[in-house]
Amino acid sequence: MGQHLSRTVAEGRAFMQLINGQPADALSGERIDVVSPSDGKVFASIPAAGAADIDRAVKSSREAFENGPWSRMPAFERGRLLTRLGLLIEKNGDELAALESRDTGKPIRQGKADVTSTMRYYEFYGGAADKIHGDTIPFLDGYTALTLREPHGVVAGIIPWNYPMQILARVAGAAFAMGNTLVVKPAEDASLTTIRIAELALEAGFPEGVFNVVTGYGRDAGAALSAHRDIDYVTFTGSTMTGTAIQQAAAINNRGVTMELGGKSPQIVFADADIEKALPVLVNAIIQNGGQTCSAGSRVLIEKPIYEAVSTELAARFGKLVAAPHDADGDLGPMVNKKQQGQVKSFIAAAEEAGVSVLARGSVDPSAPQNGFYVAPALFGSVDPKANIAQQEVFGPVLSLFAFEGEEEAVRLANSTDYGLVAGVWTKDGARQHRVAKKVRAGQVFVNGYGAGGGIELPFGGFKKSGHGREKGFEALYDMSATKTIVFNHG
Ligand code: NAP
Ligand code: MG
Repeated sequence: MGQHLSRTVAEGRAFMQLINGQPADALSGERIDVVSPSDGKVFASIPAAGAADIDRAVKSSREAFENGPWSRMPAFERGRLLTRLGLLIEKNGDELAALESRDTGKPIRQGKADVTSTMRYYEFYGGAADKIHGDTIPFLDGYTALTLREPHGVVAGIIPWNYPMQILARVAGAAFAMGNTLVVKPAEDASLTTIRIAELALEAGFPEGVFNVVTGYGRDAGAALSAHRDIDYVTFTGSTMTGTAIQQAAAINNRGVTMELGGKSPQIVFADADIEKALPVLVNAIIQNGGQTCSAGSRVLIEKPIYEAVSTELAARFGKLVAAPHDADGDLGPMVNKKQQGQVKSFIAAAEEAGVSVLARGSVDPSAPQNGFYVAPALFGSVDPKANIAQQEVFGPVLSLFAFEGEEEAVRLANSTDYGLVAGVWTKDGARQHRVAKKVRAGQVFVNGYGAGGGIELPFGGFKKSGHGREKGFEALYDMSATKTIVFNHG
């Protein structure tokens, strides 16, 4: 794929929602401009849905769940549809990568990596659909007891803008494998690939109404969806504050929720670690997707004897990082929107003002358009663990370094934020690997590595303010279904 495709894809297109297998404008006719973060220019538009559109979509998903062919389809056939969707995503991979990259500003290679992971989700859940089952339970004499895994029904998926295609895939893959129908509300800043993938699902043979997409603002479409009385389960990935609002909305109907929220994930580097192996991983963990990753490794804790050496090496690498337009495929792209750019810049300015030591700044490609949403990466050293920059999720290319003495302090620092999503531990000492991995409060812990290339198979989710419920792997299939117990009295 040339740069041409990546700049011109979707130019001028008025995208439609997909409701009951049909393209649908918002009932109000209102639209939202789609902006390219690389140059700040409008290049397409999406419908601005309100409560009435949500109602239409939920009705369609309800009908598909109760009465459509979906409800009678054997699990292996649902799996086959998911597998087919994965193959269509692979076939249309260049277009999807270009669309995602232009819509979110992420470098084109990241768009391609996202396509690969997305495809893998549908492949994984396609294979899993007929491999999850209930139990028979030893019970009283004269009885047989068994459990079934049943779908919740109509699931609402509220998706953020950072990895739209991948996050949709981990929700949709698990929801469909278990037999749910789905109403998805992507972020207004990044809805395009969700619309395309729902179109591909129709092409793959998904029955109408199984996969509905509504687009619009969170405060209108998102709020109406999470509070809708006919939604059976809500799954959300995004900010902790919005997560609270969505849980409150779902609580009115006492519905279950999966919450995949923020993080302030630590990597702990002990003095005996393989530093050469760690350095590129430490940088990538915060620079990938411009730091707009819930599991970004935004804190690096370094054992004192190697603090100077490691921080000097990291500073040298940070100084060379360049933010560039999505199709220039630089180290990182722009932030997703102007608000996010402003937030990240003000975090950096506030830390500088508070006297936190700046070890290095990367740069913005001088030929990048002036109106793009760029931020030069920042590396802060010897950060006070109580400082704002040490505690708050920045969601940008900002890394904080901390010095520690000994294992106990390392674990205490790692656990010293409100979050608990992912952690990294770098040491050659096998016993220490086990001890620290168990003591760190995080849903995933990587030892001598971080992130692990998509990790479709690996259960993922948070402790503390990072949320609850688990996605990815087989675990997601339990979140996307409920146990029914049946007891036969044949005595
Ligand atoms: P956000 O508010 O959490 O948005 C995520 C999704 O929720 C979007 O689809 C959004 O729609 C929707 N939404 C917003 N308000 C809603 C409501 N009241 N009811 C239902 N849905 C609602 O995130 P953001 O405002 O875009 O970004 C703010 C911060 O969130 C970032 O700076 C970052 O720290 C964090 N964030 C975290 C993740 C993550 O993966 N953990 C992802 C994204 C952002 P619209 O965007 O269309 O309004
Ligand atoms: Mg956009």
